Amino acid sequence: MQILHPFAGSVQQYTEQLANPDSHRPGHCPQCQAKHPLTAHGFYTRTLIDTAFDGVIRVRRYLCEACRRTVSLLPEFVLPYLRSSLAMIALFLITRLLLAQTLNNATQTAPPPMPYQRGQFWIRRFRAQAEALCVALAALTQPAPAPNFVHRALTMLQSTGWIAAHRFLFAGVRCHLLGWPRGLAPDGRRAAFSTPAAPA
Ligand SMILES: [Zn+2]
Repeated sequence: MQILHPFAGSVQQYTEQLANPDSHRPGHCPQCQAKHPLTAHGFYTRTLIDTAFDGVIRVRRYLCEACRRTVSLLPEFVLPYLRSSLAMIALFLITRLLLAQTLNNATQTAPPPMPYQRGQFWIRRFRAQAEALCVALAALTQPAPAPNFVHRALTMLQSTGWIAAHRFLFAGVRCHLLGWPRGLAPDGRRAAFSTPAAPA
């Protein structure tokens, strides 16, 4: 199971504080609710592309001694299964889908060059997810007047902040900003959009 690393900062700061397993050790198991701290259980690696980073990062893993299942702490600047950082994806979606409506030269503010298909993939997934995002994010921010769900979802993400929105969606309702691919939904649970958890 993946949960979010309760850490806000740069990729470099994330890497530096990763050495200490105690700094963000979960105090209980999110899967069986056993009330004891989890045991450090190594790392796995994943690739990450950010505005100033292109390489491999480590993700810390913990083991629950009670249910023998692992929990990994994903830094909140990345999304599960996607290589590019949340900031990169956000910048691209805003440039193409929001600003492109009003600025002819929106492409000049686009992120660093990347494969055309990757951007198309994000846009396709975001369009499919936009209406559900609007419903879920209504727990955090006022729905803005907009011509369609894509615009409304982007506006709501902008006003909430993408990381804050991702944190709420992922931790609160197990919703992926770009939608879970088939077979990768967390714990096989369906996201409960009708009753989103109240923000703390
Ligand atoms: Zn457990």
